[in-house]
Amino acid sequence: MYLSRFQLIKIQIAKLFDKLYLPDNVCLSCKNYFKPSFQGYVCDDCISSISPKIFEKEPFDYIDDYRIFSSYEGALKEMIIALKFKKASLFANIIGDIVENDFFAFVKSVNPDIVTYVPVSFFRFWQRGYNQNELILKALNIRYKSILKRVRHSKALSLGIEKVQRKKIVFGAFNIKQEFKFGLEDKSILVVDDIVTTGATATEIARILKLHAVSKVYFYFIASHKRAVGML
Ligand SMILES: [Zn+2]
Repeated sequence: MYLSRFQLIKIQIAKLFDKLYLPDNVCLSCKNYFKPSFQGYVCDDCISSISPKIFEKEPFDYIDDYRIFSSYEGALKEMIIALKFKKASLFANIIGDIVENDFFAFVKSVNPDIVTYVPVSFFRFWQRGYNQNELILKALNIRYKSILKRVRHSKALSLGIEKVQRKKIVFGAFNIKQEFKFGLEDKSILVVDDIVTTGATATEIARILKLHAVSKVYFYFIASHKRAVGML
């Protein structure tokens, strides 16, 4: 990508503002200046370019059904990154707005007894002060229960790691909180996660849930590294 000197300066300015945690009016996605508005960070054009997509349905062990909202690219990617690494929970509200219709259509189709989310490790929670998946559920204004916990801090799964290895890394990384352990029998559970790569994390969570007699496990992912096969 060719960047003019002017664009490079704009990016430098944007980075500087990032460091200072100040909202600026350079769009995180297209890097253009835009009129400062309530949501800050990402311009309306980029936000409106995010749309629900269709993905090839690869079956995941222990998971009865799942839905991926869109591709991990462009403005959606920038917002997911910002939500994780900046203290900017407002991205949860924007993401919530964007996925709302798609999410509730899936909820309606699977009709879960319990809605929950993939937990981050205690270390990351302490670093950020929040769980990005929980913030998205809050933004969606749906009743949920925090039934899962991470029992060990596995290092972040980077893209280069093979599927088999990812499975090993996440094996035993999750458990169900004590207070929920005996109340899950025959329940159907929908778990929300921001990104799906190989499905190793989701499969491991589903395995733990089914070990506790959960009847159906569903997942809703905000974004996938996989290439979409079409638009919804
Ligand atoms: Zn933009």
